[in-house]
Amino acid sequence: MLPTDSGSTERSQLLGVRGLRKSFAGHEVLKSIDVNVSRGEVVTLIGPSGSGKTTVLRCLNGLEVPDAGVVDFAGELTVDFSAPVSKQQLAALRDRSAMVFQHYNLFPHKTALENVIEGPVQVQKRSKAEAVKEARELLARVGLEDKEDSYPFELSGGQQQRVGIVRALALRPQLLLFDEPTSALDPELVGDVLTVIKELADEGWTMVVVTHELAFAREVADEVIFMDGGVVVERGHPDTVLRNPREERTRQFVDRLLNPF
Ligand code: ADP
Ligand code: MG
Repeated sequence: MLPTDSGSTERSQLLGVRGLRKSFAGHEVLKSIDVNVSRGEVVTLIGPSGSGKTTVLRCLNGLEVPDAGVVDFAGELTVDFSAPVSKQQLAALRDRSAMVFQHYNLFPHKTALENVIEGPVQVQKRSKAEAVKEARELLARVGLEDKEDSYPFELSGGQQQRVGIVRALALRPQLLLFDEPTSALDPELVGDVLTVIKELADEGWTMVVVTHELAFAREVADEVIFMDGGVVVERGHPDTVLRNPREERTRQFVDRLLNPF
């Protein structure tokens, strides 16, 4: 279950993002974003709808190709998007991280187990027997040992999202990306999913989490990044950014989340 142990208590950098830019049809959605994530660190991205949070995650996971910027994984893989990027580079980037989506994005015609082993078997060409064994262990870890044969429509949103998390873990990524993992859930199902994510953080997984759950961010995050309009407005320790922000825009956003009426 544990990601590769660096063998050192000092946290070395896993992800370095410099000057990430992305436009859609002439509309600049990311205006030079920098993000650093050390091994074992949890970084949360917060910000209003449309600020570019999902696009950041999608660029890191190779689902979008940035217009410019450098994405570096531990000095082992450096992709500079200012120059043309090969399919191999994109595939290598995609391999480093795994995404957990807001709307789970499970294959509706596949069982929980089949959803989890799809990537390891079809993409990573691992043996099916090994992938099934690992998938069962992971499903049990999140309390879904009796759901491996269930189809998504037979599962609650919280159960589907736990399958989504297991599917990401089964890829054995270096970095987990969560895009508002609980925002589609009924309120009573949010806690189970947040608990799983917190356990993964406690186990040492490195993650970037887009979330509106400020209590979760305050408890789990090492750094909170507030984005608005495609730029990083403020970043820092959760106690500062969420309780005593420097920037007025951050304060307004946090206040509105805490006091919606
Ligand atoms: P957030 O996740 O913070 O709500 P997004 O990253 O989803 O923000 O979107 C940022 C902006 O980029 C929005 O204005 C959105 O409409 C636009 N956008 C995102 N993806 C696309 C796309 N594939 N095509 C065109 N516009 C997009
Ligand atoms: Mg989003």
